[in-house]
Amino acid sequence: MRNLMALLIVSLFVSMPIYADVNIYSARQENLIKPILDRFTEETDIQVNLVTGGADALITRMAREGVNSPADLLLTVDVGRLHRAKEQDLLSPVSSETLDNHVPSQYRDSQGYWYAMSLRSRIIVYSKERVDPAALNSYENLADTNWKGRICIRSSSNIYNQSLTASLIRHQGVEETEQWARGLVANMARPPQGGDRDQIRAVVAGQCDIAVVNSYYLAGMLSSAEAEQREVANQVAVFWPNQDGRGTHINISGAGVARHAPNRDAAIQLMEFLVNDASQQWYGKANGEFPIRADVPVSKVLQSWGSFKADEIALEQLGIHNAEAVRLMDRAGWR
Ligand code: FE
Repeated sequence: MRNLMALLIVSLFVSMPIYADVNIYSARQENLIKPILDRFTEETDIQVNLVTGGADALITRMAREGVNSPADLLLTVDVGRLHRAKEQDLLSPVSSETLDNHVPSQYRDSQGYWYAMSLRSRIIVYSKERVDPAALNSYENLADTNWKGRICIRSSSNIYNQSLTASLIRHQGVEETEQWARGLVANMARPPQGGDRDQIRAVVAGQCDIAVVNSYYLAGMLSSAEAEQREVANQVAVFWPNQDGRGTHINISGAGVARHAPNRDAAIQLMEFLVNDASQQWYGKANGEFPIRADVPVSKVLQSWGSFKADEIALEQLGIHNAEAVRLMDRAGWR
């Protein structure tokens, strides 16, 4: 009789509709991801719990929580952090036809531990007033003495610069890249400070003539609701580095399923949702990023910059060379 009762109770629960949850640890600013997560919930009835924080703090937290971690999905805005999480055994590989079809192979981990959801390029912006774009060429060229005292770039603790340096290591080795970093440091107009937007402002303020920044910062300023931001952004222009060679350096925002994900299926479903047509268009419009899918058009602002050749290096290489890049930048005196 007791068994029968237990069975009855269990079957009662099983027949109830299941409202699944998915827990995201996100290094992406809440306002840059929340609207799309709300849409996911509307369409699937899967509730999304969003924990926002710094990527390193979230990775440390996942490691500390271990098997008890509620995290299902780790979302970062740079491939270096995703690779770090993979190295620390915090992610688990995913095999999904949808993801494999929509995410080009260079923008995902070769073993499926993480996938890109959107793309950004690290561009050079220059003062329309003081710089002839014919003088610009490549990242390598930034070490040329011609640029002495004219370059603004943020610090070496910034993962975007670490990834850029890692790409140079991958392409030309440690020695040449260290020479380059020394040249770049010698050409800095000021000690590194502030974020990418601050570098753009510094160019406009005349503190430097060129700056190295992620594309979406400029796109965001150009399409800002604040006239002052648009005014600043309109005084610089975009230069795509390395068009005569391997192409401009690309980075990603991306996601990986947690190793101990309690809701693994929902996490994969969410990743697949983030690469669907509507989500990809949203990334371009709301975040000023490039869609991961070539068949989704880019936003008007990005379109106005024209097309460019992208470096097709497998982005996991940026993670693999990250530690080396950090040491190299330190030796070169890049603060
Ligand atoms: Fe950023």
